[in-house]
Amino acid sequence: MKISLNPNAKDGATRDALVAEGGFGKYYTDHMVVCDWSESDGWSEPELKAYGPISLDPATAVFHYGQEIFEGLKAYRQPNGDIALFRPTANAKRFANSAARLALPEMSEQLFIETIETLVKTDAAWVPSKVGESLYLRPFMFATEVGLGVRPSNKATYMLIATPAGAYFDPNKAVSVWISTEYVRAAIGGTGEAKCGGNYAASLVAQKAAAKEGCDQVVWIDAKERKWVEEMGGMNLYFVKGKGADATVITPKLTGTLLPGITRDSILSVARDLGYKTEEVMLSIDDWRDGVTSGEITEIFACGTAAVVSPVGQAKSVMGTWKTGDGEPGAITMQIRNHLLGIQHGTIVDTHNWVVKVC
Ligand SMILES: *Cc1c(COP(=O)(O)O)cnc(C)c1O
Repeated sequence: MKISLNPNAKDGATRDALVAEGGFGKYYTDHMVVCDWSESDGWSEPELKAYGPISLDPATAVFHYGQEIFEGLKAYRQPNGDIALFRPTANAKRFANSAARLALPEMSEQLFIETIETLVKTDAAWVPSKVGESLYLRPFMFATEVGLGVRPSNKATYMLIATPAGAYFDPNKAVSVWISTEYVRAAIGGTGEAKCGGNYAASLVAQKAAAKEGCDQVVWIDAKERKWVEEMGGMNLYFVKGKGADATVITPKLTGTLLPGITRDSILSVARDLGYKTEEVMLSIDDWRDGVTSGEITEIFACGTAAVVSPVGQAKSVMGTWKTGDGEPGAITMQIRNHLLGIQHGTIVDTHNWVVKVC
């Protein structure tokens, strides 16, 4: 990997002040990684260089036909000061799957992880130290062939940027959701399983509709029968049935339209480790309404790399408005959240070999 260090890297005091501000995606580290691909030459040697704007021809394919994918993962400070990644090979695999679906070139796991480890090592001082804080890494790839012809691009660029992420969890605030029966996120045969910008572009109008209904987030249901619960915004969903040691922790089954979240997958294991039964099921809007009304469903939460776990309180739809439990974050939700965060930050033993030390 070619290394061209940033001669204008922020001084320590400035950097520490930016990291201490918390937030998410407001500041970026001193460096980024760029790697170009062409059909004729394959992947070039990646380069680590100063973070900054890039220049592209206005006729570049990605601007017109949206051929773009991304990933999201975090680097976590460990108790001894080391820095570790959480399941980076799972992100590498999903990035390759997304690339295949969007007719972009696949990048090897090894190359993907090498770029991440190099950026994290170089910008290690940007990794915050408190539990819940991290350095969020955003790998992405886009079509760079110049021309307006509609075809899979014969050129692509991979980039990696990083931003310090604060602990933005507010335990006193459960999110409210709008169950969208008007717009759908994904249909069988579409791009629901791929992490591509286009999925998000198509979701924003529904997010706007949710806000108009006074809700924080949109919940997606399936495209065909318009009744099966799939995801919340850019996060997967979990439901807790029952209470205490006998509780069952349930998540919608991966049908081909849901994004297979790494947090979702990790929580299936964590919940079992904590002694709960787990199920991957088809769960309808009626099941949601009836479950929270009868009290069988005691807790609901959403999960993803960025926010880890967010309790879901009120749900609203054209069928009415229902509250989950007493509207407060549930005990099992918080237990799972703290356990997962503990593994990521090295304060709870990682029995699954998920944590990968970088430096
Ligand atoms: C990224 C993403 C998730 C969560 O995936 P994680 O690997 O847990 O971060 C869930 N749903 C959508 C639509 C996503 O883009």
